[in-house]
Amino acid sequence: MWPNTILIISLILVMDCYSKTISQNSGHDFWDETEPFGQSTAVAADLRLPKSVQPSFYRLKLKADLEKSKFTGDIYITIKANEKVKEIILHSKGLIIDKNATLTEQIYENVQTIQSSKVKRQVNESSIESTSQNTTNNDVTEFPMLNSTLESEPATISPVNTQVIHSNVRNIKIISITESTGDRLVLALASALVPDIDYTLKLSFEGNISNSLTGFYKSTYKDSNNEIREMGVTQFEPTSARAAFPCFDEPAFKAKFEISIAHPQNMSVLSNMKISTEESVPGEPNWQWTHFERSVDMSTYLVAYVLCDFKYLETSYTARDNITKTIRVWTQPAFISKANYALNITPKLLAFYEDVFGVPYALDKIDLIAIPDFSSGAMENWGLVTFRETTLLFDEKEGVPGEKRGVAIDVAHELAHQWFGNLVTMKWWTDLWLNEGFATYVEYIGVNHIEPEWNMFVTLTRDKMTLLRSDSLKNTSPVSRKVIDASEISQKFDEISYTKGANLIRMLNNTISEELFLKGLAIYLDTWKYRNAEENDLWKAMSQATRSTDSLKDVSIVSFMNSWTRQAGYPVVNVKRDYATGNVVFEQRLFCSSPSPYTNMEKQIWQIPISYTTTDVPHEQWSLTPKLWLKERSVTEKLNLKSDHAIYVNVGAIGYYLVNYDQKNWELLSQALKSGAIDDPITKAQLIDDSFNLAKTNRLEYSYALGLTSCVVNGEDSKIVWEMLLDNMSFLKHNLKSTSGYLYFQDYMRLLLAKQLEKLNYGLSKPADDNEALLVENLLLWECMVEGPRCLHWAKAEFRKWMEQTDVNDNPIPSYLRSLVYNVAIKYGGREEFEFLWNIFQNSTDPTVKTLIISNLPSTREASLITFLLEKSLTDIPKQYAALAWSTDVPASTRLAQNFLINNFDRVYQVFTNLDSFTFPNILNMVFGFISDTDELDKLKRFALQHKEKLLPMSQTLQKIVDSANLRITWIRKYSLGINEWFKNYMQEHTQQNTTTVEPEWTQNITISISDSNTTASSR
Ligand SMILES: [Zn+2]
Repeated sequence: MWPNTILIISLILVMDCYSKTISQNSGHDFWDETEPFGQSTAVAADLRLPKSVQPSFYRLKLKADLEKSKFTGDIYITIKANEKVKEIILHSKGLIIDKNATLTEQIYENVQTIQSSKVKRQVNESSIESTSQNTTNNDVTEFPMLNSTLESEPATISPVNTQVIHSNVRNIKIISITESTGDRLVLALASALVPDIDYTLKLSFEGNISNSLTGFYKSTYKDSNNEIREMGVTQFEPTSARAAFPCFDEPAFKAKFEISIAHPQNMSVLSNMKISTEESVPGEPNWQWTHFERSVDMSTYLVAYVLCDFKYLETSYTARDNITKTIRVWTQPAFISKANYALNITPKLLAFYEDVFGVPYALDKIDLIAIPDFSSGAMENWGLVTFRETTLLFDEKEGVPGEKRGVAIDVAHELAHQWFGNLVTMKWWTDLWLNEGFATYVEYIGVNHIEPEWNMFVTLTRDKMTLLRSDSLKNTSPVSRKVIDASEISQKFDEISYTKGANLIRMLNNTISEELFLKGLAIYLDTWKYRNAEENDLWKAMSQATRSTDSLKDVSIVSFMNSWTRQAGYPVVNVKRDYATGNVVFEQRLFCSSPSPYTNMEKQIWQIPISYTTTDVPHEQWSLTPKLWLKERSVTEKLNLKSDHAIYVNVGAIGYYLVNYDQKNWELLSQALKSGAIDDPITKAQLIDDSFNLAKTNRLEYSYALGLTSCVVNGEDSKIVWEMLLDNMSFLKHNLKSTSGYLYFQDYMRLLLAKQLEKLNYGLSKPADDNEALLVENLLLWECMVEGPRCLHWAKAEFRKWMEQTDVNDNPIPSYLRSLVYNVAIKYGGREEFEFLWNIFQNSTDPTVKTLIISNLPSTREASLITFLLEKSLTDIPKQYAALAWSTDVPASTRLAQNFLINNFDRVYQVFTNLDSFTFPNILNMVFGFISDTDELDKLKRFALQHKEKLLPMSQTLQKIVDSANLRITWIRKYSLGINEWFKNYMQEHTQQNTTTVEPEWTQNITISISDSNTTASSR
């Protein structure tokens, strides 16, 4: 799955490895600073399914009635016991289970299936027990069962009969079916199942096609005649397959699926596998059965089906196994032209992944479909990948570089899952990171292959640097952390699993070499295909690959990687040189942004591969390969370094750690940076970023970090340098906003931006390429954020031009700058601008337009308009846009949103938790994520305690917000005065001569002329 990046705010985490139950009453009525929120509650009961009964095959027959929002179904599950048990426990959630369930010992005789036939097996007479004893059961729902014989399949679907049951079947009496905690359905049997014999459990069930965004749900869209069209969609990960049919809904219970769906004839039906046959439904004119081929062994969360009236574009590619495989991209008919980009890159990515992994794509077809109402970014269902419309569709004419990149990334991610996740699956959600970290790492490799000029590894490095900030919070959690209860699973879909996982894998790759890494991957995939693995299975495969390499024979991949995946946070490596002797001490310590980290975390030791170079070595000769290992608290190495040149550690920023140096070395680095001796963008970005992280936690003086930022004052072309610099400045901006020195900060930022903006013609010329377009957008955004008069004037004028068009569809604003322009127009405008955009939001059917507008409307400063938006998010705003209405401006508007949430908690909670388990935590992040004073923090703590039971499943989000608030509050007290002074002094020293010259003349005549055909790079 790919989280919706728009909604995910980049502060993450937290973590306890302990579980909690929602119903626990802790007895605490105060916020306990000594342990994470919710941890004091008792450990949850183990609600996992017993392993004594295993499914191997599901025959699912479903009738889907969209009009009535109902479905009915029959499921035949082939199960086997591995010990004598008198109970079958599986999952079911919100389904009505018919009482005529049957359990039959399976006797195969000439059983015809679509793909294979089975051989007759002798019936084990002793396995049949007959009993009529009663059991007592205290649970609520109980259906006494009659001993019934298994009926043969209805004649209506005879062409695909897969279970021709012999007439001499033996039934096991089911005494009761009981709903139990944890969505469990408990079937008590009159006699025990005998090990190693196949039984068929038949259950009939019905349920509602839901209005949420999980399970089997309804999505709608307006067609070209403005009529509402309905469709049926599934989203099962992590635990919603059980809401669509009874099943063993844990990833390790892999089985084959054969699915048939009855539906109105005028709809298309898609599922994981190809269609095998279609036939009419007797007695129901205009209805038909669509039967799908039998699947490979797969986990329940990957099952999918969709009913729609969409169109598709088709292509194909010849796979490694020489089979030509069909690729279709589906969308509502009006958007079909936007499906081209995804259609173009999918075969390239599949073929590339096959080459890299050495394993062919496992199925015969793949469908990619854009769903109008969708919760996350995309979902990797095997053979039927579902996407949010904005993550699959790209408008070559109007689309902007960021959107195209988003589509490439999401498609590359979900296709990578077809191997990592689908073919080899994690055993349990504890190892979710294996799925997500790998898919994330591979997504960068994939996009880098199809769009090399985007420099995706620079982006990966940037994402790592951004994550290092939240991974230093006190309550961060390890990549691999125990999940006991299903309610904890959704918290694992965070940046730790995705981005940290990806960067740890990258560090491994860099340490052992690409060649051995790919060899290890191929071993892993081949060994574990169609099965479930744990992280150490992967490390063992890597060890197999590296075994015969001399330089690696002393490295235990298992203990190296466990030190990174099983310990929370990361280290800072302190490098201290003795300039007289040439000795260098490398020492590791936990890097935590809190002054009082947990003692057990302070004791952590990582196995750190260390690469280094010196500033007298030309950049072309820098090596990324680690030269030494730091596996203890510290090591001393005698290195022959020239004392007037700096040592630079963690070359290329590939290692997942920060580096601090002695003062003299920092000065040498700073000189090298300013003199241009260091001109590698990643190194520049890394030094700036490391120095800010160190300064923030009192490990380095702020003057070093701030001093480094001035290296861009004469212009800087690199996107990553600006991104890291501005990211760090953003932390300062939020914190200084309410201080008197904020004006100096604004002046300093305008000065930093001036030269580069001038160089880029203030963003008024057409960008040279996608990278430049993204840089221009970022710089202009900042120019407006620090209230540069030129930018504000320009943005307001652009918006006014649009408002004056006779047809609002003629939007004259360059598409890649629209977000920025809307934001400024709304922030500095009033009701008129707001209503103009609100009306377009309501009338547009284009998800890109809607997303852009709803993301910017909350920047209004009018209290009444904020309240209007928040109210509408609970009623009128379509599901997947509703949360975006909460992304209000900090701090004034977020305070309004906080009070709205507190005063309307029950309504807000209900609306958003009914959608899925991800949206409400996002709302909390948006509303409380930027707390910078104790009053607000106390307000949050009171709120959290008041609603503790409901908020426990998002305990990590809350704890992370509190950590981040504590960091800000302490920071403001400690640093704001000194930093304001630094900006003031800098400006006094540097601006007399050039403040007036850097501000360009505003010329009304300048217009941005970008012809439509040139706004985006053509696809390659
Ligand atoms: Zn994913």
